[in-house]
Amino acid sequence: MFGVGDVGARLMLVGEAPGKNEDLQGEPFVGAAGKLLDELLDGIGIARQEVYIANVLKCRPPGNRDPRPDEIDACKGYLREQIRMIDPDVVMTLGNFATKLLLRTETGITRLRGQRFDWWMGITLVPTFHPAAALRGRPQVRLDMEQDFQTVREVLDEPRTQRESSSGGESEPGDEGPSAGEEVDQLELFS
Ligand code: URA
Repeated sequence: MFGVGDVGARLMLVGEAPGKNEDLQGEPFVGAAGKLLDELLDGIGIARQEVYIANVLKCRPPGNRDPRPDEIDACKGYLREQIRMIDPDVVMTLGNFATKLLLRTETGITRLRGQRFDWWMGITLVPTFHPAAALRGRPQVRLDMEQDFQTVREVLDEPRTQRESSSGGESEPGDEGPSAGEEVDQLELFS
C-alpha cells in the first residue's frame, strides 16, 4: 500500500503501516480506524478523497507487529519523496511511529499531539494519535483528536504566506529535528 489520494492535496496524513485488509486492497485505513478517520476529516469539512494518505511502512509487518528500525529505514526514502511531490500545506502524523520519524524525536505522541511545527519546505506538521488508539476505549483520545483536527483546519485557513513567514510555531521538538528558520538538507531529512 504505497499511498492513495489527491496528488494536489493540501493535507497529507501519515500513518504507521498497512494492516492486512489495507495490504490486500491497496487502500489505507479501510476498517474501523478508517471510519473514525473519515469522521474526523468530516468534522473539519474535508472528504477523504481530498487528502493524500501514506504510511511510514509500505507493507504490513508480519503479525501486525510494530515496524522495526530496519524496515523504517528501507521505506523512509519513499515517504520523503511522496511528501516532496505532494508538497502539502499540512502533514498530520498519526501516532508515534510517523511522528518520531518525521520530527526526528524520541518524545512520545501524548506530549507532542496538537502542536504545530514549522517543518520542511514551508509545511506545517501537526501530530495526533493513531486512530486505532481512539478505538481502544478511552473516549478522551477521540476528543483530543477532534481538537487536533481543528488545529489542522486553522492552519489550512491561514494564508500560506503567513505560515511560511511565521516563526517557530507554538513549539519545537527540543533540539532534535528541524526547527523554524533552520535550513534542512532534504537528503538528510529522516536520516
Ligand atoms: N493503520 C495505519 O497506520 N495505516 C493504514 O493504512 C491502516 C491502518
